Amino acid sequence: MRLKQRLLGVVGNRLFAKGEILAVSDPAPRFRLIEIRSPAFWDREWVPGAKIQINVGAWNVRTYTPVSLDPKWGTLKILAYRHASAPETEASQAIEAPGSRWAAQLFPGDTCRFIGPRASLRVPETASPLIVYGDETVIPTAASYRFQHSGGADTVHAVFAVDNPAQGPAVAQAVGLANARFFSKAGAAADARAALAALGREHPDAPIILAGHAQSIRTARLYLRDQGVPMSRLKIKVYWADGRTGLD
Ligand SMILES: Cc1cc2nc3c(=O)[nH]c(=O)nc-3n(C[C@H](O)[C@H](O)[C@H](O)COP(=O)(O)OP(=O)(O)OC[C@H]3O[C@@H](n4cnc5c(N)ncnc54)[C@H](O)[C@@H]3O)c2cc1C
Repeated sequence: MRLKQRLLGVVGNRLFAKGEILAVSDPAPRFRLIEIRSPAFWDREWVPGAKIQINVGAWNVRTYTPVSLDPKWGTLKILAYRHASAPETEASQAIEAPGSRWAAQLFPGDTCRFIGPRASLRVPETASPLIVYGDETVIPTAASYRFQHSGGADTVHAVFAVDNPAQGPAVAQAVGLANARFFSKAGAAADARAALAALGREHPDAPIILAGHAQSIRTARLYLRDQGVPMSRLKIKVYWADGRTGLD
């Protein structure tokens, strides 16, 4: 057990708020929409692109993006992607990808401990439209901006390079994301980047969020630079990287 885990084992219950799992649904295999209820969310102000950090078991802490927050009812939704690196066998699940395992095993009525939401990826509140690019883990980020914007369905334009693009529309619908395009990260990542650059040209004043997988962000950034997109338009946030665990 790591030092951070050991320390949190001592003070975690005092630092982390308590919540109850209110509802769980699967808009597509591997995607889990989780609604958490807690007094900590009452009258809570939050900004899109924020983060919440959750004890996913044995004080392993993993980071998620609130899709929406209802300060009146004290509820918050996250969309967890149970990624393909998450091992399938019971034995290895005990030690790896605890966030994916936590999401897969949740039931309404379960309790959890969390910190947040706190600001993470920020763009000016007035930024509209906004362009978002990333993988499955960035769908909630785009949805959070969509949720908070009042300007209508076309204020967030998203391009996602994902494992299974056919699942995209159902997931996007579940989180209220209207303008999202999905490409295969294995076979069509170049098409995804081209679609991103086209959006950048179509909306020359829109900030562009690049988030999710470190190496994919880097490739997209270099591509946009080569396409003449000003780097000042980019807001970048790494959510995960190959071989690394529990970033942030
Ligand atoms: C600010 C922030 C916001 C985030 N918001 C969300 C969110 O809303 N929803 C969400 O699902 N995730 C989100 N993430 C990403 C999530 O925290 C990571 O994917 C995390 O590593 C998952 O934890 P795990 O225990 O399943 O895997 P870990 O134990 O952390 O990682 C195990 C292995 O899996 C790999 N891995 C991790 N994530 C992925 C992935 N997505 N695809 C393929 N391989 C992966 C790692 O490189 C590592 O080798 C966010 C991260 C940050 C920093």
